[in-house]
Amino acid sequence: MSVQIQICVACGHAHFPDMLLCASCAGASFSHACVEGGKLIAATDICYRVGGRTGDAKLLGLLETDPKTLVLARMEIKARPGQWLRLSLVGDAVWACV
Ligand SMILES: [Zn+2]
Repeated sequence: MSVQIQICVACGHAHFPDMLLCASCAGASFSHACVEGGKLIAATDICYRVGGRTGDAKLLGLLETDPKTLVLARMEIKARPGQWLRLSLVGDAVWACV
């Protein structure tokens, strides 16, 4: 279980999700690398969402991967910033877990 990070062939800048053009150099040629996880940078609870029930909290985490990019993922459990979490793609959603 992993997620694919897009890497610009021209400058090495990493993106997630895939981009049509590189955010750093506007290049259009990419390779991909599988990453197993990343370091948790920040986490939050989403308590209210449009059309959702109150009390239907979701945990979201922002993870830094290697190659370096940021991935926003749903989290199964609360984790501390700095903790390494595994990433997996389930349908269209990225999940992070211990
Ligand atoms: Zn680039």
